[in-house]
Amino acid sequence: MTDCLFCRIVRGEIPVARVAETEECLAFRDIAPQAPVHLLVIPKAHFGSLEDVTDASTVGAMSMLAQQVARSEGIAASGYRCVINTGVDGGQSVGHLHLHLLGGRSQGWPPG
Ligand code: 5GP
Ligand code: ZN
Repeated sequence: MTDCLFCRIVRGEIPVARVAETEECLAFRDIAPQAPVHLLVIPKAHFGSLEDVTDASTVGAMSMLAQQVARSEGIAASGYRCVINTGVDGGQSVGHLHLHLLGGRSQGWPPG
């Protein structure tokens, strides 16, 4: 998807604060942070949402990068939340699979 916002970020066409990347995934800071640490972890390949994923490797790779970045951001010991908003009721606003990594403060439950 050439005109997808996050595909454009992967290609470097839209500047973001990149934090880490692997061959498969990229982690960067959310433009509108909802917590002291708020990163997005995305696959470099385009998936519209979690509904488009057909094997375990994509989400596995995203989760491992989230774990790595949680450690490098210093929130692994205090704890953090990983969220994958999916579809309309899930509150997904960008149509490229992404994992929110939130930390640096206590997260409420249940989410809104
Ligand atoms: P969603 O609502 O789809 O789960 O999350 C999309 C996230 O992408 C939002 O938290 C939003 O702030 C973030 N976002 C949208 N556009 C940009 C952008 O251009 N740059 C960055 N860094 N984050 C963005
Ligand atoms: Zn995309």
